Amino acid sequence: MLTIRELSKTYPNGVRALQSVSLDIPNGMFGLLGPNGAGKSTLMRTIATLQDPDAGSIRLDDLDVLADKPAARRVLGYLPQEFGVYPKVTAEAMLDHFAVLKGVTRRGERRDLVDALLRQVNLHEVRRRRLGTFSGGMRQRFGIAQALIGDPRLVIVDEPTAGLDPEERQRFLNLLAEIGERVVVILSTHIVEDVTELCPRMAILAEGRVRLTGEPRETIRSLEGRVWRRTIDKAALPQYRERMNVLSTRLAAGNTVIHVLADAKPEDGFESVPPDLEDVYFGQLHHAATAKAA
Ligand code: ADP
Repeated sequence: MLTIRELSKTYPNGVRALQSVSLDIPNGMFGLLGPNGAGKSTLMRTIATLQDPDAGSIRLDDLDVLADKPAARRVLGYLPQEFGVYPKVTAEAMLDHFAVLKGVTRRGERRDLVDALLRQVNLHEVRRRRLGTFSGGMRQRFGIAQALIGDPRLVIVDEPTAGLDPEERQRFLNLLAEIGERVVVILSTHIVEDVTELCPRMAILAEGRVRLTGEPRETIRSLEGRVWRRTIDKAALPQYRERMNVLSTRLAAGNTVIHVLADAKPEDGFESVPPDLEDVYFGQLHHAATAKAA
């Protein structure tokens, strides 16, 4: 269990990236969902002990993460948003190098470890290929192999599926789900489906604050009967936005389809639709934005 309490961070330029963030994250996959600029990377880097908060605490079971960073780093795997590799080095050699850095000094042990990890992420067949020739999905799976060195109890992945094609994305998410059976995995993302498909628990972060935590299915249920759909003329969208709580707009076959949050049918022409996690997400973001404007 990862326990985060009242974590705050203001950058020197005055941006309040985290504002008293508290979260309880049990074993398994945890989705941290939020738009760009929400503070996700700041939170991930702070948990990964790469930067300090201004205030607050982080505990992994009985380990005080911020007070004992070397101990935290030994049980932590991290796949950062920008994961750089040497393009001319083979996957096998690079992973071997990472294992040395992580303190796996015995050569035989390291060879077995590298071999096992490459198999786990399904890159064993291409282990002698240079990383520069890897696709985005292969690179991300390599990034996971690297994060798993040392058998971490906590794995942090920051926006891992951005830029992956659907098949690679699914493959990557399946891999995370397997890992999530044993340890805490935090998946930070702005892609709602990543969370719907994979995470039994989640939080929504916006403007440095936790807007909602819970189980995706429960949060969706809370909107049951309150989401309404209508196809409209695109030009009319500003009027709808003014009069109603418009959750989302989608283009479908040249038409604009809007989802509106309301306790009763807003007007003729709307039909009730089953809510999904996107409705929850956009509802929260909308809420955050109107609270700020007020
Ligand atoms: P996310 O990962 O959700 O996109 P970030 O944690 O990267 O969010 O950023 C949160 C906010 O903090 C943004 O407004 C961003 O511009 C700002 N920010 C991030 N890193 C820095 C930094 N090193 N210095 C100043 N501002 C930063």
